[in-house]
Amino acid sequence: MQMKKDNMIHFNVPPFTGNEFQYMHEAVNNHKICGDGEFTKKCNAWIEERFHAQKVLLTTSGTSALEMAALLCGLEPGDEVILPSYTFSSTATAFVLTGAKLVFVDIRPDTMNIDENKIEQAITSKTKVICVVHYAGVSCEMDKIMEIAHKYNLFVIEDAAQGVMSSYKGKALGTIGDFGCYSFHETKNYSMGEGGAIVINHVEYNEKAEVLREKGTNRAKFFRGQVAKYNWVDYGSSYLPSDLNAAYLWAQLQIAEAINENRLKTWKRYRESFKELSDKRMIELPVVPYGCIHNAHMFYIKCKNLNERQAYIQFMKENNILCVFHYVPLHSAPAGYKFGRFNGSDQFTTQESERLVRIPLYYNIDKYDQELVIDKTLEFFAK
Ligand SMILES: *Cc1c(COP(=O)(O)O)cnc(C)c1O
Repeated sequence: MQMKKDNMIHFNVPPFTGNEFQYMHEAVNNHKICGDGEFTKKCNAWIEERFHAQKVLLTTSGTSALEMAALLCGLEPGDEVILPSYTFSSTATAFVLTGAKLVFVDIRPDTMNIDENKIEQAITSKTKVICVVHYAGVSCEMDKIMEIAHKYNLFVIEDAAQGVMSSYKGKALGTIGDFGCYSFHETKNYSMGEGGAIVINHVEYNEKAEVLREKGTNRAKFFRGQVAKYNWVDYGSSYLPSDLNAAYLWAQLQIAEAINENRLKTWKRYRESFKELSDKRMIELPVVPYGCIHNAHMFYIKCKNLNERQAYIQFMKENNILCVFHYVPLHSAPAGYKFGRFNGSDQFTTQESERLVRIPLYYNIDKYDQELVIDKTLEFFAK
């Protein structure tokens, strides 16, 4: 059980299952706390097996997984990357590092995901990559997106930071495009403090990815006994996390199903409790399209407009409940102007982002806290 530090209902409490300290202790006793120790290997193998992924490598963050994916696509200055504007800065900044230009595409109002029907018109002779974000762990329309990518010979990177344990038509998110990126930040469903993973879906990128992650060396090959000594072979960085962090994550992966069930239960309870408000068209609730299985990464509601949202957040705060909004659309942020352009008209991105508010949902959130969130929300909208 999580300890309460105050009488607030927090928006997020990092997951803790009970075995984290024991595994971290083991890592220390093994005299192996740097990267690619036993726990890192266990986590990589677990994810590969559970998600039928060709190759998985833990990284220091979801952001660094995205950076690796951008580098593996061989992006060069002037190349263009298509992505939604309604996302976290990491999705964009990973590509900016390669000198690529960002081309933002509008979202669908129902899932808040990139609108698959607006991608094709954003493609130019310079387009190299489509980067999709599976918002709230609900999949983008991947059949259509992969079809477009094949037609124009583009890479697809899945920002599945929020989509660990979600699937689209039976395939785990992150395993559908060329590369998938997970986050294990403390705000995500499974955590190692700061951390993430890259999923590599084609075997021909495995070696390059290992080199990138290990400071440009072929150390991974050396450890497998495939080369006599290791060498600096290409450019790279340090994208491998400490085994101490992996030990923390391992405790959660071992009970990943239970964590998922627990979150889904809360999610469903919220949804049922707010159904009437939604039926009366006072709020809108998340939509999960056919074929998508989600992981209850978040529960959001959509108010009428910005004013109502701010009033709701304020009302909840006065009742010791912390609700948050996020993502000022990237195309309207200072760096967005500098590094990108919005293709077509912004029909939904700004409008929908201003209405959305996230309510407390985390592993093992107290039943009575859930009740309070529900009661206070109903009270607000009754007024
Ligand atoms: C959390 C998140 C990231 C970044 O992950 P970090 O592990 O914090 O670097 C990237 N994209 C999306 C959509 C996210 O939610």
